[in-house]
Amino acid sequence: MFRSMTEVSARAPDRLNLTTPVTPMVDAFQRRITYLRLSVTDRCDLRCTYCMPERMTFLPRKEVLSLEELYDVSRGFIARGVTKIRITGGEPLVRKDIGDLFTALGRHLVSRGGADHDGRGLKELTLTTNGTQLDRYADDLAKAGVERVNISLDTLNAAKFAELTRRDALPQTLEGIAAAKEAGLKVKLNAVALKGVNEDEIEDLIAWAHSQGHDVTLIEVMPLGDNEEASLDQYQPLAAVKARLERRWTLAPSDANTGGPARYWDIAETGGRLGLITPHTGNFCEGCNRLRVTATGQLYPCLGGSERVDLRAALRSDNPEVEVADALNCALMIKPEKHHFRMDQRGADPRLPRHM
Ligand code: SAM
Ligand code: SF4
Repeated sequence: MFRSMTEVSARAPDRLNLTTPVTPMVDAFQRRITYLRLSVTDRCDLRCTYCMPERMTFLPRKEVLSLEELYDVSRGFIARGVTKIRITGGEPLVRKDIGDLFTALGRHLVSRGGADHDGRGLKELTLTTNGTQLDRYADDLAKAGVERVNISLDTLNAAKFAELTRRDALPQTLEGIAAAKEAGLKVKLNAVALKGVNEDEIEDLIAWAHSQGHDVTLIEVMPLGDNEEASLDQYQPLAAVKARLERRWTLAPSDANTGGPARYWDIAETGGRLGLITPHTGNFCEGCNRLRVTATGQLYPCLGGSERVDLRAALRSDNPEVEVADALNCALMIKPEKHHFRMDQRGADPRLPRHM
């Protein structure tokens, strides 16, 4: 077992030689893949009701990719033209020694001279976190080259936070947000808009975030994992939320593009930016440039589809270089044109049998 990522960097090329020229990733619909969302754990210190049950059965450790394998996977994607990696989970910052992975990946940032001889490297290394561990990690992340961080926060009401996440952790999360700002990280807050839960609070949340200099992105709840009924009950189309916000504020379309699925609006009165991710009501798939890899190394070309490729088997095979390349090519071939979430039809079973 390695102790530091310096060791990982030194050992990885022996197992997965990625120095040979490889072709960029373009899918069957001519979408170029430049963005990898990499889950590093299924574990979490919160239990958001729309995400996982209270009694969550977590995966046995051997099924989860080691830090070394996560690094190999990332290098494989960088070699195929991925320029942005978002580390996610579960809660990524509860993974032991996760700082080492950020440090190792930070060395591939082009801005830090990390491009390879063909100019391939990362333009951005980032993460999505619930913020509870940021107090501890913000400085190290900044040192590793992370410049922006997405922090999930659905409510500023402590009782509601405890109900929604099943943990009394609002103060810890707010401390984490403050620590990120202090460390010089650009913070974006993500909030899932939930009917009957935080719909009356969205404006306050945006006003507070913008007063702190943080952008906000709202997300429509998606039917993932075991939360079908709750998701359907709590589904709140963002078009309706936006219409409500427009009664109070002036929203002007922004040309900001962070390489993700959000569309942005500038709010004149707060001076801040609002992103809307509308997998159900908006045009989400046409410009999709992403692939997702779960903590067990399952490559899902689409969040809303069950197509997948087993990268872990490829990585753990006798010929990882060829097998990983084949697996990536396969993922490109099977990436669907569109997702198939259907929030409007009860009984149509839109739920997908996995967690985010
Ligand atoms: N634990 C980290 C966090 O909460 O930010 C990272 C992982 S979490 C799965 C990533 C994002 O997915 C969070 O912003 C969370 O609110 C969102 N999410 C989880 N389940 C969702 C669902 N069913 N529908 C929409 N968004 C969801
Ligand atoms: Fe944990 Fe994030 Fe899921 Fe909430 S949304 S339970 S913080 S992984």
